[in-house]
Amino acid sequence: MSVRVRFAPSPTGYLHIGGLRTALYNYLFAKKNNGTFILRVEDTDKTRFVEGAIENLIDSLKWAGVDYDEGPGKDGGFGPYIQSERLDLYNQYSKKLIENGNAYYAFDTPEEIEQARQIQQDQKADFKYNRNQMRNQITLGDEETNRLLESGASFVIRLKVPENKLVKFKDIIRGEVIVNSNEVDDQVLLKSDGYPTYHLANVVDDYLMQISHVIRGEEWLPSTPKHVLLYEAFGWNAPTFAHLPLLLNKDKSKLSKRQGSVAVEDFRDKGYLRDALVNFVALLGWNPTADREIFSMYELIENFHLEKVNKAGAVFDTQKLDWMNQQYLKNLPNETLATLLANDLKKNGNIHFPISYLEKVVNLFKERVTFISEIFLNAPYMFDSPKEFEFEYFKKHWKENTKPLIEQLVKKLEGIEDFSHTYLHDKINEFNEEHSIKLKEIIHPIRLMITGKSSGAGMFETMEALGKDECIKRMNYFLNEKVKEYENINS
Ligand code: GLU
Repeated sequence: MSVRVRFAPSPTGYLHIGGLRTALYNYLFAKKNNGTFILRVEDTDKTRFVEGAIENLIDSLKWAGVDYDEGPGKDGGFGPYIQSERLDLYNQYSKKLIENGNAYYAFDTPEEIEQARQIQQDQKADFKYNRNQMRNQITLGDEETNRLLESGASFVIRLKVPENKLVKFKDIIRGEVIVNSNEVDDQVLLKSDGYPTYHLANVVDDYLMQISHVIRGEEWLPSTPKHVLLYEAFGWNAPTFAHLPLLLNKDKSKLSKRQGSVAVEDFRDKGYLRDALVNFVALLGWNPTADREIFSMYELIENFHLEKVNKAGAVFDTQKLDWMNQQYLKNLPNETLATLLANDLKKNGNIHFPISYLEKVVNLFKERVTFISEIFLNAPYMFDSPKEFEFEYFKKHWKENTKPLIEQLVKKLEGIEDFSHTYLHDKINEFNEEHSIKLKEIIHPIRLMITGKSSGAGMFETMEALGKDECIKRMNYFLNEKVKEYENINS
């Protein structure tokens, strides 16, 4: 039997990071087994309709490189892949269950259900629909049922869950799961508005789309016995199940919006690189080997085994994600990084830098940042001459003799042709020897004048990137326009 798996999100307006993990595991499993990965949109909850949600979901998957073989816009002969376009099917299939006696019509009003719920709540019981007491086909009989249907009475269709039966299924990750059918409620399958519930639509579609493995989050585990009963009611074979571990915050609570961002698009907008995010998400619940963390998509596919996925919840460690981003960032070619930087600068209104210059800048900073945006934030002086200078830094390193020394240094620098960091280093060492001073007596004032800041990348490399004219211009500006002002604050 060929492997066919699906990611079946309900479009909520964004792709949850846990949804990305589910999609990715389905994708890896499909690719590993020469199977087909399907995107099916489960949008039958009309109350949760969000404009543009499907497009957004598809965009986020595309960005992540988790590309589907069949789904909206990519017909593989099992479409449509959007449940709201399949309503007739669910109607038809719910009627089949009525015909074979495994489902029944129920006419209870919401008030009647609420009343029954209250009574059971008072008895401290979880609500279970009592098919022998409520207003349905079983208590009313077929004749009255038909009369009600013909009169246009509002109804739902419920699954007739068999009594006292052990519902068993095998989960690749959790082993065998057994539930007594008495714990399962007579699920509504078709709602009074003619829409299917999640359970019905999900099972009908998994069957019709010939899904071989259902790989989804652990939160759906309680639904699975209901699904298994539905497969039995239809007389179909159930697919193989694999329920992926929950995603947890560091404090072991369930990962949720309240603790920070969970939307894939937010991670993207914050500047996480797609390969880093995918690598990180892939390791939430599984690791191909104990001694490595960095895997390409190809390696993830090659090594993927559902059997190796953990049962225990996976902690979403943002620090690890940041580390991962850093690893990917520093290994990208300067060319690529320069383009990313150019885009970031554009966002900040700076567009006038040649790519060749930006390549020098990223080369200088790539080992030091987690996000490309940190370059502009931490080193704005690479894009504009500083107007402010750290006063404490000035105070510590600007001595009586600094100004005349720097004036002489500027003259020396004006005369050199080669502004490479190695040559600069030699020339400044030479200067220091001539004046019997140590490197730190000159390098800190230089850093102050050129960057305005007390820390940054290597100073000679920074000077090389900025170029001779710019460095000399900045030093002269400080000498002519700023020294006095700063000395005055100091006195
Ligand atoms: N529509 C469900 C969801 O939003 C699908 C669960 C499943 O994969 O069966 O995740």
